[in-house]
Amino acid sequence: MKTMQAAQLTGIGKPLEIAEVPVPQPGVDDILVRVRAAGICSSDLHYQDGRSEVTRLPITLGHEVSGEVAGLGENVRGLKRGDRVSLFYLATCGKCMMCSTGNDNYCSEAEMLGKNIDGGFAEYVVVPARNAFPFPESIPFAQAALITDAVATPFHALKRAAVQTGENVLIIGIGGLGIHAVQIAKIMGAGQVIAMDLDEDKLDLAVKAGATAVIHPQKDTAEDIIGAATGGRGIDVAVELIGLPATIRQAIDSTGIGGRIVVVGICPEEVRINPYHDLLLGERTIMGSADQCRADFPVIIEMAAQKRLNLSHSVSLELPLDRINEGFEMLKKKDQSVVRIVVTFP
Ligand SMILES: [Zn+2]
Ligand SMILES: [Zn+2]
Repeated sequence: MKTMQAAQLTGIGKPLEIAEVPVPQPGVDDILVRVRAAGICSSDLHYQDGRSEVTRLPITLGHEVSGEVAGLGENVRGLKRGDRVSLFYLATCGKCMMCSTGNDNYCSEAEMLGKNIDGGFAEYVVVPARNAFPFPESIPFAQAALITDAVATPFHALKRAAVQTGENVLIIGIGGLGIHAVQIAKIMGAGQVIAMDLDEDKLDLAVKAGATAVIHPQKDTAEDIIGAATGGRGIDVAVELIGLPATIRQAIDSTGIGGRIVVVGICPEEVRINPYHDLLLGERTIMGSADQCRADFPVIIEMAAQKRLNLSHSVSLELPLDRINEGFEMLKKKDQSVVRIVVTFP
């Protein structure tokens, strides 16, 4: 039996272990992918510390994956060995009503790569063939890995909010997702894009990515900056990527008439809403956005291929698999300079 190296979570709170495990075999509708890049996401830290639950141990983590097709199940058409592919991280049934209507992030049978099934911190991974989206050689593997989550998740959120040309957008939390949210909002035609974060370096990055104003909550008064930038109109779309009651409250308070608040950050605590002031007056909408859909992939790949979406500053560091725990530690320390650390395979 052929074996491979995989970085596995063997117990909550433990560093990942590099294990020698069998190379997985694709089913008839699956493909085997030789992993070339897998991004380390803060969700991985949550699986490790138990804040989010993986469904079995040991499990190979890694849900931001790109690679090359290395094997195909007998029913697979339209892909061939060597194709460069970016992987949608939910293995869905492909048949239910949610899957059929493009809401595959709500497939009741969905299993997530690196959470419910073995993921991409390994030399090989198996996924349903429909999860693979080919991308051109002009996009490096490490950038193509980020498309699957760090780009697709904020893209999906901004799509949910239906940003219109000239609208004012506030992005709260400029991490791996937020920095891409700034760029995507600009591409979607936003007028003012205001970035909010406690970290000066991240705010600098946001300006380089196209933010028109920044808010440092400990130094600035958000209301003043938003008022000046939007001519008093307020924010049309506020995207919350942190997951704290205070920042969700900030998102609501920043919006003007017709404002849409999109909650992407994971916040298990309650947030008080005043239905009259927060919703009825101003006809505001508070919505959630979870993961992304297969339908998001071709659009994002096209934006990256056309270089409208610039991911050249998004890969902060590439590490080999045997140094993956260093990447986890750096992300835990919230090293300012880090957008995404990516595990790459030669
Ligand atoms: Zn993630
Ligand atoms: Zn389904």
